[in-house]
Amino acid sequence: MVISVLVEINIDKVFDYNVPEHLIDNICLGERVLVPFGNRELEGFIIDIKDTSNYDLKDIIDVIDKEPILNEELLSLGKEVSKSNVCNLTSVYQSMLPVGLKASKNRKVAIRKNSYIRLINNDLDDFLNNSRSVKQKEIVNYLLNNKEAITSMFDNASINVLIKKGIIEKYYKEYYRLNDNSNEEELYTLNEHQLKAYNQINESDKDVILLNGITGSGKTEIYMHLIKDALNNNKNAILLVPEISLTPQIIARFKKHFNNIAVLHSGLSQGEKYDEYRKILNKEVNIVIGARSAIFAPLNDIGIIIIDEEHSSTYKQDHNPRYNAIDVAILRGKTHKCKVILGSATPMIEDYARAKKGYYDLVKLDKRANNASMPLVNIVDMTKETKKGNKIFSEELLLSIEDRLNKHEQIMLLLNKRGYANYLMCPNCGEVSKCPNCDITLTYHKTSNMNRCHYCGYADNNKEVCFKCGTKLVNRGLGTEKVEEEIKRLFPDARVLRMDIDTTNNKGDHKKIIDKFMNHEADILVGTQMISKGLDFPLVTLVGVINADTILNLPDFRSSEKTYDLISQVSGRAGRSNLKGKVVIQTYNVDNYAIRLTSSNNFEDFYNEEISIRKKLFYPPYSFIALVKVGGKDFNETIKEANKIGSYLRNNADNEIILGPSVASLSKINNIYYFEIIIKYRDKDNIIKLLNEVRTITLSNSKINVQFDINPNAF
Ligand code: ADP
Ligand code: ZN
Repeated sequence: MVISVLVEINIDKVFDYNVPEHLIDNICLGERVLVPFGNRELEGFIIDIKDTSNYDLKDIIDVIDKEPILNEELLSLGKEVSKSNVCNLTSVYQSMLPVGLKASKNRKVAIRKNSYIRLINNDLDDFLNNSRSVKQKEIVNYLLNNKEAITSMFDNASINVLIKKGIIEKYYKEYYRLNDNSNEEELYTLNEHQLKAYNQINESDKDVILLNGITGSGKTEIYMHLIKDALNNNKNAILLVPEISLTPQIIARFKKHFNNIAVLHSGLSQGEKYDEYRKILNKEVNIVIGARSAIFAPLNDIGIIIIDEEHSSTYKQDHNPRYNAIDVAILRGKTHKCKVILGSATPMIEDYARAKKGYYDLVKLDKRANNASMPLVNIVDMTKETKKGNKIFSEELLLSIEDRLNKHEQIMLLLNKRGYANYLMCPNCGEVSKCPNCDITLTYHKTSNMNRCHYCGYADNNKEVCFKCGTKLVNRGLGTEKVEEEIKRLFPDARVLRMDIDTTNNKGDHKKIIDKFMNHEADILVGTQMISKGLDFPLVTLVGVINADTILNLPDFRSSEKTYDLISQVSGRAGRSNLKGKVVIQTYNVDNYAIRLTSSNNFEDFYNEEISIRKKLFYPPYSFIALVKVGGKDFNETIKEANKIGSYLRNNADNEIILGPSVASLSKINNIYYFEIIIKYRDKDNIIKLLNEVRTITLSNSKINVQFDINPNAF
């Protein structure tokens, strides 16, 4: 027997190997094997099985998996994903596996087993009459009334004696680390608006449906009904959520109504992930709920794929392979001939445009379920507040907090200080330096003391004063920790919780904080964007956005969209029950449409403004963007190669616009210099073909490393 193996090296190459007689029975498509490669031993995936070969082949060393871990669908899906994302196939196959399986043969996570005992001898009269051991009799009596017993129930020495006497035997059964069975409560009856949306979805003849429903309109309930229908048709379902460790509430909600769910997300231990994955492989579950990579779940007969909060940037992987789970979902939807539902209160502009053009169906939900009303939104001008001496909190927000504390209601405060978003701002008029060519905020580079545009490479000397009013510029930087400290100082009796990366280092931390807040063991929850999505706290009647401008000033053509999304999502946490909600948004840009329009909860209004700007500047969806990042140790060599790639692209481009190479936003990391080429394109097929050519050509050059990013999140 001969097999073709995709060997785990950087270049996708397939080599044929011979299978020795004693391993033939273990061979199956999609398994991993250990093969000799030069003088090394490497792992690889079996991607073809043949009878013979004309060549004299080397033998494989061993078979790693006991069962195929990639089925035929996933094997061919991987090829499409690697081609359309211009990356190597091995990395795609690797991303399809849970960490526990990814580890090599020796480091693999173990399957957990419990030991059991049962009777093997029915002639027990003699033993029961003569034995003087109370403990042994106790075991035998138990087993006479029960089929089996877990060994931990009894004392080990007695068990061993009984085994020796030939009365009982010991055996092992696999168990899963996570095993919380549920009680399958009935689903809610959909209200008239939900029913209308549900019917529209069912009657649609499109492959993809965009469900645009305001926060709290009952989208999740619709998902559950759609999934239930799929199960009733003997089909399975995948639900993707942005990042599950942040939304334990959603899982709890699903587990109340459904049995047989596998959950895949980063909040699980390696062993738990491995077990959840095995539940799918062993066909013991019908529903997979998970973050991005769950889209590769080895589930058969998929009847529906739902992507919640579809606008979330977490669906796009920001390292190799840079796939987007929504694109993969659409590919799998085609294979399984099932619908793909994209749900959001604030859909991605590109997706909404596709829906408006009729590529997707658009289904709307404009009313909150439960008769809850939308919260009242107040936008506060912080330029005026700063003049009054209120730097962090406006008067309005402080008064509202005090009021809610007196009424024993709850408060959420959002400040999205993520990473190092450093930029210079005028404290007087709120002006931020922008690129004259691109209308994108310039990034302040501390080392070079320069303001740079990450789009076109424009740079100017850091100006110390505002060009509009002459006030000395300040470096903005306020974090959640400072907010927590200030709140505690101003309201010493309030119980305050904080949720951000620093307070959620350990497994289960998210859930602990959420549960505590849910049980009203705290009055105020301060947090980053982590607190904005998917949470449903009935007692929250006030949401404060400390600084709505954090994202607005990031150098990203999606900064308005992301600002609108974040404020709308977090506002949606207020007043979800019968208590009326209020939102206070603090900003230095009261007139900015992305902030102003959050108060009306009408996504269409925001879309219309945003799309006209996208059109003017030829940004997505009017063009698409691809990024080529060239890295190398030698500055001159790297720029030379980057220029070569740039020329190659320019010479072979049709209508594509090629910008750069310019210095990348993170221009030097670990002593590697980076240059970026930005491509604005319309015809995807042409650019993918071209970039795959570039990839093939540059792979042989070991001095540089070239990465491709199709439709990047931000840059
Ligand atoms: P979304 O996913 O759109 O934010 P949810 O599905 O979370 O909305 O619904 C908001 C709240 O309304 C939840 O507490 C949910 O249980 C409740 N709800 C939704 N639909 C119904 C319904 N048909 N009957 C009763 N309660 C509902
Ligand atoms: Zn620029």
